[in-house]
Amino acid sequence: MYGINTDDPATHSGAVDLRSDTLTRPTAAMRRAMAEAEVGDDVYREDPTVNALEERVADLFGHEAALFVPSGTMGNQIGLRLVCEPGQEVLGDADCHVLTYEMGAAAALFGLSSRTVVSDGGRLSADQLIAQVRPHGDWHLTATAAIAVENTHNRGGGLVQPLAELEKLFEWSRGAGVNVHLDGARIFNAHVASGVALSTYGGLADTASVCLSKGLGAPIGSVLVAGAERIAAARLWRKRLGGGMRQVGVLAAAAQYALDHHLERLAEDHEHARLLAERLGVDPATVETNIVVVEGVQAPLVAEVAKAQGVLVGQVSPTRIRLVTHLGVDRAGVEHAAKVVGELL
Ligand SMILES: *Cc1c(COP(=O)(O)O)cnc(C)c1O
Repeated sequence: MYGINTDDPATHSGAVDLRSDTLTRPTAAMRRAMAEAEVGDDVYREDPTVNALEERVADLFGHEAALFVPSGTMGNQIGLRLVCEPGQEVLGDADCHVLTYEMGAAAALFGLSSRTVVSDGGRLSADQLIAQVRPHGDWHLTATAAIAVENTHNRGGGLVQPLAELEKLFEWSRGAGVNVHLDGARIFNAHVASGVALSTYGGLADTASVCLSKGLGAPIGSVLVAGAERIAAARLWRKRLGGGMRQVGVLAAAAQYALDHHLERLAEDHEHARLLAERLGVDPATVETNIVVVEGVQAPLVAEVAKAQGVLVGQVSPTRIRLVTHLGVDRAGVEHAAKVVGELL
């Protein structure tokens, strides 16, 4: 089929699959790195590949420590639990992943209360959130212990949060006794698009969860970063949730490979997304990274007809589709998708 890293059969799925960047398959070279990984029992902290990955990611984000977890959801939820006690509140925007797509975990597992504010398409406004924070020590009020920030923003179409807003929020939070959790599932896309250092983003959060399994192309895995004491606690939470894994260096090796070889190339995905936007008549200002959202369409129909022509798109709502570029779709695949979807619109 069309251009799915045609030089690397390991990534073939038989279609141009733009539903999500989680659909990447490990490349042949990544699989070799996995096969050759040195491993040990990670619950005993004896997996050298996991230990090296945790140290590397902690350093990248300028934090003391890190913990490898099976999913971004687990990274986020443990992250929230570290900075919020049962009965306290997490504040986030109404479309944020941690409160929209994580099965109510904060409430169901940890007794955390949550409140949301409707934002401008996911774009962070420090003032808007700060205005909603409820203080500690008032016997009438549910105290706001943490604010969740998402960068890039998934339902916001992959938008990169304005650095000035992140700085304003974090600076304010220091004096207010409120912690900031970063859902950095696509922080690597934000970094490549904005040129802002990962350590700068890391320095503006108390806890951050970052995904290796999105655009970076690892099959599994996220890393939670925070201070050393918090990560020690996170290790217990992970075990309690059933996320203590054994010879998981095979997965950490995929993550290491992804950081070595797939980080800079995210720029290519962003270029492909801009190309799709251009061809599909989508405002290029709405495409900052690897997600293209097309509004005002009959989503089920477009998805069905495109599928018959070998192009898979995501349906965000009955009138909205999204196309997410990633390393499994090369230029020829993007051209094919632009042609097929373009004709349908
Ligand atoms: C994908 C994603 C996650 C984590 O998803 P998992 O499937 O649990 O790994 C978290 N936040 C955002 C914004 C995401 O897009």
